[in-house]
Amino acid sequence: MTAPVRTALILGGTTEGYALADALTDHPGWRAVSSLAGRTRQPRLPTGEHRIGGFGGPDGLTVYLRDCGIAAVIDATHPFARRMGWNAAAACAAAGVPLLRLDRPVWSPGPSDRWQEVDDWDQAVQALREQGIRRAFLALGRQEAEAFVPLTSCHFVIRAVDLPDPRPAFADAEWILARGPFPAAAEEALFRQRQIQAVVCKNSGGPMDGKLTAARALSLPVILLRRPPRPPTATAATVDAALAWLDRL
Ligand code: NAP
Repeated sequence: MTAPVRTALILGGTTEGYALADALTDHPGWRAVSSLAGRTRQPRLPTGEHRIGGFGGPDGLTVYLRDCGIAAVIDATHPFARRMGWNAAAACAAAGVPLLRLDRPVWSPGPSDRWQEVDDWDQAVQALREQGIRRAFLALGRQEAEAFVPLTSCHFVIRAVDLPDPRPAFADAEWILARGPFPAAAEEALFRQRQIQAVVCKNSGGPMDGKLTAARALSLPVILLRRPPRPPTATAATVDAALAWLDRL
């Protein structure tokens, strides 16, 4: 007799979320439903089943977990998704469903790196001002660029997946619309071509990143946003570790 197939809900929209959905397509005993927030206009769709859009806070997620008979939740949201992990922790506690956080390790500077970590974008603006930066590269969400508008002495090259609507009223900015991954050689060429003097991004973590490798090669200062706090939950750093956790349930 074959074992019943249980359903795992993947809170995704990230590299790890897509990879876990791929891995679960032929993983015995489990099927995955991936959930995307629906923020980007043409989201990459995961393998297998998916749903799109918010649940309506922790209460809505609790109802969803019960109604859909979810046996496990894997929070694979982006390290800078501030709310969803907390909602998942509250809903899983209420519905009695086990929760795993699939998280990538933070990036750490090498000996020659000129990194400064900040807690919010206002501190990043302050750091650019103090360093007298005139041309900065911003790699951040389209909703987040607004914080840099007051720095009118700086030319910004801003990379995002979609354009913000309305577009923030920058004194001097160029938008580059693109979806990663971005190889280091192309990042270095871009920074040289645009005469970038500083890179601003989030400490998203995971494999060493093209823009950070390029910044290192060009000795550019990097201003990184620290990750927001997460609820205490079981964690896994890799898809294989997440599969092993599911198998132990
Ligand atoms: P957030 O602050 O944690 O979430 C805000 C609200 O969006 C949540 O309360 C929830 O709405 C809904 N939501 C978030 N993730 C969801 C998911 N996977 N499925 C269904 N609903 C979800 O997150 P965010 O910063 O707005 O990011 C939204 C999504 O984009 C996340 O899934 C994240 O992984 C992805 N993403 C974020 C970043 C980033 O830097 N923030 C970068 C890359 C990808 P309800 O309360 O109505 O359920």
